[in-house]
Amino acid sequence: MSESFDVIVIGAGPGGYVCAIRAAQLGMKVACVEKRATLGGTCLNIGCIPSKALLQSSENYEEAAHHFAEHGIGVGQLTLDLARMQARKGEVVGANVKGVEFLFKKNKVTWLKGAGKITAPGKVEVEGTTYETKNIIIATGSDSAPLKGVEVDETQIVTSTGALELETVPGHLVVIGGGVIGLELSSVWRRLGAEVTVIEFLDRLVPGMDGEIARQFERVLSKQGIKFKLKSKVTGATKGKDGVTLTVEPAAGGTAEEIKADVVLLAIGRRPYVEGLGLDAVGVALDERGRVKVDGHFATNVPGIYAIGDVIAGPMLAHKAEEEGVAVAEILAGQHGHVNYAAIPGVVYTWPEVASVGETEETLKEAGTAYKVGKFPFTANGRARAMGTTDGFVKILADKETDRVLGAHILGPDAGTLIAELVMAIEFGASAEDVARICHAHPSLNEAVKEAALAVDGRALHI
Ligand SMILES: Cc1cc2nc3c(=O)[nH]c(=O)nc-3n(C[C@H](O)[C@H](O)[C@H](O)COP(=O)(O)OP(=O)(O)OC[C@H]3O[C@@H](n4cnc5c(N)ncnc54)[C@H](O)[C@@H]3O)c2cc1C
Repeated sequence: MSESFDVIVIGAGPGGYVCAIRAAQLGMKVACVEKRATLGGTCLNIGCIPSKALLQSSENYEEAAHHFAEHGIGVGQLTLDLARMQARKGEVVGANVKGVEFLFKKNKVTWLKGAGKITAPGKVEVEGTTYETKNIIIATGSDSAPLKGVEVDETQIVTSTGALELETVPGHLVVIGGGVIGLELSSVWRRLGAEVTVIEFLDRLVPGMDGEIARQFERVLSKQGIKFKLKSKVTGATKGKDGVTLTVEPAAGGTAEEIKADVVLLAIGRRPYVEGLGLDAVGVALDERGRVKVDGHFATNVPGIYAIGDVIAGPMLAHKAEEEGVAVAEILAGQHGHVNYAAIPGVVYTWPEVASVGETEETLKEAGTAYKVGKFPFTANGRARAMGTTDGFVKILADKETDRVLGAHILGPDAGTLIAELVMAIEFGASAEDVARICHAHPSLNEAVKEAALAVDGRALHI
């Protein structure tokens, strides 16, 4: 007789592993099934963490190459040891995935190694053994969406996984897709010396983010040397010995042109991953986009089976998956687990960074909500000037009647950290005046947040 559990989580990404830890903290007997050789899912192995490691390394290289001189620092002949940079990335990933393994041991979560298949409600098969459980949590994540006519080989035509592993800097990298992942990886390889062209179907970058921020972001990235081809679609790719030839047409149709690339990165989005889970047989319903359908408590249509993270609807973000993991564990423990989807930040870790939370001007207009805008540029922030990084601005959107903060958008240095204050403002139902009246340290980048909050009421002090 195999072991039985209170909860079996399938998938050890940020949704699954956090859920397993929280359920164990709450006194449940928990197992987590993971088929990858290491824990941590997409995020730790081939996503957030390795991309941030390369972003940091390439940013350091760019600083040394182009910006140290302004500070009076000479570095002589700069060299790039890409093998060392990639090895460091591996070390960062290694430390993180080992950390999750340690947390599993500490919390007595059993790691069932192998692919999990749901054979019936309350039964999960792993490597030929069937385990019984009161509850099953599907946390199997997502993988890269394919594009017809563009066949990925992870060498010449790569997904983000291959783009994080390149052993040489490509002469010309063409990125299909102007979303978060495409732009972060464009930045990495542009900084390391590649010519980069981004082809995007829409007339703007980072769809879903505030339009004004997106336009300014495009200008900043163009100034850094990334080329953009918006309103364009890739309809085919031919591989040859000396690279890939892409066929590109206007999005609305028209005359096709050819673009040559050494490496093509396909980054048009991600799709839910449910392969081999056996959902058909147990009757778990999917929505029209292949995501596992859940109710407000993360329950699927089959009693005892729940789902969280990238495999369900909502932004495909690690911290969103984590929040859902905690919430569902608490619900199973009879508590009131809840996720506030109005307060989930999204960050693009380029430099400057882009960070966003809550409503955009576009969504407010669409909903017919009357709002006020407060903006403050980093050119007027003392700390940003001292750092030499003044591109961008903070923008706060507040309800016209109540002054409640409805959304916040930042393009600028450390935007991903700065946004936390405004996420908290939304979570606490704060007004722009509440933020404006808080004492912010000087000189700090956060002062730009305070000034934008003051600007909502037309009383910014330093502009
Ligand atoms: C290049 C890149 C950069 C990113 N950067 C960021 C970022 O900076 N910030 C951010 O918030 N998000 C980022 N993301 C997105 C983030 O990685 C995902 O939102 C997050 O990993 C989703 O977590 P998850 O737990 O739902 O699934 P995943 O992390 O995808 O984990 C699912 C796990 O389930 C396993 N699995 C699947 N099926 C089975 C099965 N049948 N049996 C056993 N195991 C199974 C998989 O092997 C995988 O390990 C990035 C993604 C990529 C690709």
